[in-house]
Amino acid sequence: MSTIQRNDRRRVSESVTDLLPEIEEFACRLVSEPTVRGDETTAQELVVDRLDDLGFAVTTVTADDVAGIESHPEFASDDRSYEDRPNVVGERAASGDGRSLLFNGHVDVVPPGDPDQWSFDPYAGAVRDGRLLGRGASDMKGGLAAMVYAVEAVERAGFELLGDVTVESVIEEEAGGFGGTLATVLDRDADAMPDAVVVPEPTDFDLWIANDGVSYFRVTVEGKSAHAAETDDGVNAISKLVPIYQALSDLHDERKETVHDDLFEQWHEHTVSLNLGTLHAGEWASSVPDEAVLEARVSHAPDETREEVQEAVEATVRRAAAGDPWFEAHPPEVEWFGWRGSSAKVSPDADIVETVQRVAEDGLDRTSRAKGFPGGIDTRFFVNDADTPAICFGPGDHNIHGTDEYLPVEELAEATLGLALIAMEWCGYASAEDGE
Ligand SMILES: [Zn+2]
Repeated sequence: MSTIQRNDRRRVSESVTDLLPEIEEFACRLVSEPTVRGDETTAQELVVDRLDDLGFAVTTVTADDVAGIESHPEFASDDRSYEDRPNVVGERAASGDGRSLLFNGHVDVVPPGDPDQWSFDPYAGAVRDGRLLGRGASDMKGGLAAMVYAVEAVERAGFELLGDVTVESVIEEEAGGFGGTLATVLDRDADAMPDAVVVPEPTDFDLWIANDGVSYFRVTVEGKSAHAAETDDGVNAISKLVPIYQALSDLHDERKETVHDDLFEQWHEHTVSLNLGTLHAGEWASSVPDEAVLEARVSHAPDETREEVQEAVEATVRRAAAGDPWFEAHPPEVEWFGWRGSSAKVSPDADIVETVQRVAEDGLDRTSRAKGFPGGIDTRFFVNDADTPAICFGPGDHNIHGTDEYLPVEELAEATLGLALIAMEWCGYASAEDGE
């Protein structure tokens, strides 16, 4: 049972209702800013101003200024500058000595694709028929607006939180989080780490407590060029790649059958995947191609190591090439490149998981199931780099990364209420009058 009295829950729910027009307006302004990677500044300025208005002590953290970030294994620099691309941190110190809590949300969005495929402006940032419309409404500017207002909702209801609350608006989550949450985590002293972190990604009010690790790799196969009329004099790199492609495709099927984690499979068909993403070969229809290059993404479960999955891929390529005299002199090359994400897992029995589940049950009348997410999420930096439990809990997923993304306003309200109650349950609270 939640420690929050029924009557207190009702008061917070009423204050969310009172605040809703303001929360909605703020969410609309965020959505109307096209914050694709590299263009986060204007929205971050809105967040700074709003947190300031709501009484937070606001600072910024820019990845360029974080010592040692470039040597972190997940930092994947691509020569983009972090100038004018701050992460925003708002702190609210409590009078009590309750547990501290940090809300983290990303302000960046994925590009909208062809705007003609949308039935409204992708950056509409407007509410129509009870829906907040536009790229980022679900993922995750709605959640971001909700977390910015969660403490306000508690205080307007006449309560004060007994633990410190921090609100963090970060950049670059969609690209791997290294200039965003990684920067804020590395920037924070170990003794200033919160006791738990909640990220209101669009989880549909379930809980994401684990995620797969992700690695990219490239297989390069050499051939021998010849004129098309003498095609048998050459060695066709595409033909040489085919058995490797097939073996990797089989590895995907095999890992689907052998790698299991219930957290993932209760909502997803399989725990891990191997996606064959790009294939480039040849340059002219009447020449034998002398090179073929395949790029792929492989994921690994929290209970596996990256080294294990890398060895599985490399052994698969070696086996597919074995016995071919051409490959003996020209072995296929496997390279691990680009961004890599670590897996992470918080125990289903962790206090923060049980706290959120109690709040969902008593405060929102929902059953919040603990799940794994089959890709990279920012919570992993808190879990792996700061030994801090971090989970995702937020509103619904409505066409995220697709066309016509939206968020029902009632879910915006419900997310705000949920986060407010999580803060009360986790940090503890008292009537504001008690302290006066
Ligand atoms: Zn997201």
